[in-house]
Amino acid sequence: MSRKPAATRRPRRAAAPAARAPSVTVRHYCQGIGDCHLLTFTRADGSPFRMLIDCGIHVSIAGGPALVADIVADLKKETGGKIDVLVVTHEHWDHVSGFLTAKDLFKEFSVGDIWMAWTEDPADPEALELDKFKGQALAALQGASQKLDGMQGLNPYMERVRDGLQAVLGFQFGAAGERVRSARNAAAKLSAKPSPTYFEPGGAPQSIAELPNLRIYVLGPPRDKAALRLEEKASEMFPLASGGPFARALSSGLKMNQADDPTYIDELSPFERNVGTPLSAALNGEKGSDPAVDIDAFTRKHYSGPVSSAAPMEDRDQSWRRIDADWMAIAADLALQLDRGVNNTSLVLAFEFIDSGRVFLFPGDAQIGNWLSWKDLKWPVGQATVTTADLLARTVYLKVAHHGSQNATPQKQGLDLMTSPDLSAFIPTNKLDAVKVHWGEMPYDPILAALEAKTKGRVIRADDSWLAGANGRPAFASPSGSILAVRSAPRDPARGPGGLWVEVDLV
Ligand SMILES: [Zn+2]
Repeated sequence: MSRKPAATRRPRRAAAPAARAPSVTVRHYCQGIGDCHLLTFTRADGSPFRMLIDCGIHVSIAGGPALVADIVADLKKETGGKIDVLVVTHEHWDHVSGFLTAKDLFKEFSVGDIWMAWTEDPADPEALELDKFKGQALAALQGASQKLDGMQGLNPYMERVRDGLQAVLGFQFGAAGERVRSARNAAAKLSAKPSPTYFEPGGAPQSIAELPNLRIYVLGPPRDKAALRLEEKASEMFPLASGGPFARALSSGLKMNQADDPTYIDELSPFERNVGTPLSAALNGEKGSDPAVDIDAFTRKHYSGPVSSAAPMEDRDQSWRRIDADWMAIAADLALQLDRGVNNTSLVLAFEFIDSGRVFLFPGDAQIGNWLSWKDLKWPVGQATVTTADLLARTVYLKVAHHGSQNATPQKQGLDLMTSPDLSAFIPTNKLDAVKVHWGEMPYDPILAALEAKTKGRVIRADDSWLAGANGRPAFASPSGSILAVRSAPRDPARGPGGLWVEVDLV
């Protein structure tokens, strides 16, 4: 009996790997400067559980409302109009505009619950305090912006302040002047429940009865006022406490231009009103109140010029001496405080799958102050205590905060703690649009480089050129890391280049 030589035996076929079911599928919409993410979990009976995080686009993006309408139409098609939980991370136009501009489309949706941060709760005294500052700052900034818009011959620095103000106010208003609050309120009304559910950081993790394998940790926004105000690090704090006086000084200065109003009192002026001459009167050739002083000639000679065509060249135009608008540069600091303050009110959620221990982090637009506040948080889970460092070490997917800007992904208290080799990331951003609206680098190159290294190239950006391709594929292989599969929206000739969305199956 001859034995079959071993070499000719048929090799045993490797068992085909069982298709892994994703823990969650995330459809990121690719409007660029704006967030809209649809998370689809699976209930025990196999049916989908939908969570929508934000829906907005920055006001300066051309065709923004039409693009958001396309997004909401796609959401309807994908979900059948049924959203179990709508998360509104914070009150900025690029996160909530869709609830207003596409409100007719959203009327066809049924939304189970709305989740918001404690900072949006009208019954919360600390939230009301923050709101008061926001109101004051916004009114002052609007005034400064309108004034600068109407001024000719601004110096280059003040031109940058004017443009920067427009960009910041673009987070607060729609194209027709709609307030961001009305968009947030439109979102809050989408559920039949009388009020959204408001969340605090820490405490026991949240659970959803239909998703027993999921724990949700709330990391921000902090209750600590210093953390909300924090700009980049403790030594560079811009406290809101100084924001109040900034706002008042700016408002007061703007009112000063109401020179005809006899009841107006300038609290900041060192002199009584009756010893001064309005600049416009002096420049227009009206005499000052003291006939012994020719304030008109003095002003022309030293402040506006030209004195006369016979005067030496250097005496003719004195307008370079004028600082009429420069006091409004204070608006730049105030705008920064307002913007960072609101970003730091972002509701930050970490989704943990109990069986695998893997974590998916959605920090909204949290900036450094919000991130740094997480380090003291602890969550009781059974007999154990979960810390932020533990959650970050197990994070396998990051929705990058604030469109990849410089101060929204800290290194030491953020990326350095995300040590999972499976980390992948998505950035809702558009580099060209960010430049157009004077934001500079968004995404910020060093953060992008750090993310690329950390994720071994598994970074997807809303403005990635491969998304526009017919059968777009990212540069990294999938499955890889936490990404089981990547799909992108079919190219739509009507919309031009760029897919409407990119979808990842995550595990
Ligand atoms: Zn944003």
